[in-house]
Amino acid sequence: MSTQKTFEQTKLFTEMVARKQDWALNPDPIFYNNLVEGLTTNYNRYGYFLCPCRDTEGSREADTPAICPCVWSRADILQYGHCFCALYLSKEFAESGKEPRGIPDRRYEDA
Ligand code: SF4
Repeated sequence: MSTQKTFEQTKLFTEMVARKQDWALNPDPIFYNNLVEGLTTNYNRYGYFLCPCRDTEGSREADTPAICPCVWSRADILQYGHCFCALYLSKEFAESGKEPRGIPDRRYEDA
């Protein structure tokens, strides 16, 4: 039985990840809050921080690569300046003031 997370706890989690990885958080407060909300909902539904932009594949094992920060986040941030959801941005990208765009989902690239 996993404990439930509040919006504030999830927010702290994203801040901790950003600090640790030296990333920036999405500066648009509405967009950011929606993603934090989605992560919180996923945590409380599945027991782990499944990516808020992806669907579950039915088990924790299958979803493990898509637990935030997902295994593709580093490569996406290097290549595009932000992760698939655009929750995390490289500091460079954030400072450029560019808008995140839709990027391919690496989850199914090797499938
Ligand atoms: S795409 Fe972004 S928000 Fe989604 S799991 Fe990866 S790092 Fe987290």
